Amino acid sequence: MSTGVQVNSQKGAANFFEEVMLSTPGDTRLQMCIQCGTCAGSCPSGDDMQHSPRQLFAMIRAGMREEVLDSTAPWYCVSCYFCTVRCPQEVNITGIMYTLKNMAIKAGKFHEEEGADLSQSFVSNVENYGRSFEFGLATRNFLQHSPVELFRMATMGLGMWSRERLDLTPQRIKNIDQLKLILQKAKDIETASEIGQSEVMA
Ligand code: SF4
Ligand code: SF4
Repeated sequence: MSTGVQVNSQKGAANFFEEVMLSTPGDTRLQMCIQCGTCAGSCPSGDDMQHSPRQLFAMIRAGMREEVLDSTAPWYCVSCYFCTVRCPQEVNITGIMYTLKNMAIKAGKFHEEEGADLSQSFVSNVENYGRSFEFGLATRNFLQHSPVELFRMATMGLGMWSRERLDLTPQRIKNIDQLKLILQKAKDIETASEIGQSEVMA
């Protein structure tokens, strides 16, 4: 088991737990996690994740740096924020998932073969259309990772489409330009926050 003490890359961090917290913009409240499992039970990607958010947080606390950064779990996170709004301890779960992805990339542990493309497709849909495009997202993901599963899910998709619960083409929201400005503003704030943190830690 890695202690994280010798290998942490965030200045000022005494161990992997602190490294994760200091690498995440804002207050993660990770220390407040009570291992209740609400996040694991809420996650729509939970079945595909190698570890649930709850398990990842226990592993972070245990200093299991290599195992956490090796986990495919963060790459299946689609940033839906469902876990974050349901967490009774207000842990910034989604933010931590982003941090783990960034740390994994820096550590050369990018899971290109896993859900990274799903996450990128979801973000791309939101940036271009202002909302998710479930049909395209699911079809592309199953074709790339599990074509057999695509046939199994086709019946369900057909049922959803017949009940007008599934669009076959992406639908763009009104005022997409305003959303793009908001997203750009959020990116600017995150970048400024990261620069500010680096200067504080320097
Ligand atoms: S829901 Fe919150 S408190 Fe419960 S296990 Fe997940 S992160 Fe921890
Ligand atoms: S934000 Fe990520 S980890 Fe949380 S419920 Fe959504 S997909 Fe799961």
